[in-house]
Amino acid sequence: MSFREMDAGGHEHVAYYRDEPTGLRCIVAVHDSRRGPAVGGTRMLAYDDEGGALTDALRLSRAMAYKTAAAELPLGGGKAVIIGDPAEKTDDLLRAYGRVVDSYGGRFVTGEDVNVDVSDLRVVESVTDHVGGTGGGDGTDVTAAGVVHGLRACFAETDGDDSLAGRRVAVQGVGKVGRALVARLVDAGAEVMVADVDGAAVAAVGDEFGVESVAPDAVYDEPCDAFAPCALGGVLNDETIPRLRCDVVCGSANNQLAGRRHADALAERGILYAPDYVVNAGGLVSGVVELEGGDPAAALERVGAVRGRLATMFRTARETGSTPLAAADRFAEARMAEGGERQLF
Ligand code: NAD
Repeated sequence: MSFREMDAGGHEHVAYYRDEPTGLRCIVAVHDSRRGPAVGGTRMLAYDDEGGALTDALRLSRAMAYKTAAAELPLGGGKAVIIGDPAEKTDDLLRAYGRVVDSYGGRFVTGEDVNVDVSDLRVVESVTDHVGGTGGGDGTDVTAAGVVHGLRACFAETDGDDSLAGRRVAVQGVGKVGRALVARLVDAGAEVMVADVDGAAVAAVGDEFGVESVAPDAVYDEPCDAFAPCALGGVLNDETIPRLRCDVVCGSANNQLAGRRHADALAERGILYAPDYVVNAGGLVSGVVELEGGDPAAALERVGAVRGRLATMFRTARETGSTPLAAADRFAEARMAEGGERQLF
């Protein structure tokens, strides 16, 4: 890993911090700050080597910048990784990390991620104001509402009718977002099918909404109008794409494509892919609205913009012969450029 990789990814700032007394070792990466303060969670992992940690920080901060820009929020994208065994996380280490965050004076604002939860953030918050997501708000339903807007945009694109009534939608993962999505789809008259590795979660949505289920691995083979991944990343790959029997893929999961070339593979099969980072911005929108003092109704209204944005991206993709993913990236890059000056770290 070298500075060349940072240049190639278009990153603005990457810093490594080390605090001897607490054992803290962390990397803060800011991909873009032209639209506003860089936001991004903090994860803690026992990376095999520093290169892996740096790659993660670069990849995740870039993804945040594209997500905030595509959502047209006045924010940039960043990410922090703490290198170390989460079992060895101490309050002293978290306070040392909090001082790192504080040193950015609000130009980097962080939140939860893998192995860093709200209780950890409260410790970080004891030394810095620049932490989000500890207010108790839950953006899950706003995320699900964004997926519904995404599905409507997809159907408007595939057959000119944005109605969900009678559409067959396969929802993969009925955790927080998947369950809320099932509720909204059933309410809109869709025929829903669910799959989850957690049998109790499947039984619970089955009882609550009367929806049918399929085995977790069989969900890819189910004939349906739309497949909604709401569980894991990497589910659209060389093995699953040839099996899909849907017209549309639109769900909340992060990093659904195993690689960028899988956006092409979906297009080649005539399947319309709604870029995940555009569809799943609801959680972020909800956090911003909460910080602005707005209520959940305001967040639900604001996430409605997902539909128009996707329609624009689908049109661009159609007109330029590119994929919706490429069109989404160009859209986000244009919004970043409109942001003006970088914050200069
Ligand atoms: P969650 O942990 O509550 O639910 C995930 C569900 O997926 C669980 O029920 C789990 O059993 C199931 N699952 C795991 N592996 C599976 C498999 N192989 N097949 C089928 N089901 C499987 O998570 P969540 O908050 O509902 O988030 C779902 C996805 O959406 C994640 O990728 C998350 O990063 C993304 N996302 C969530 C939000 C939000 O507001 N919570 C916002 C943006 C993106």
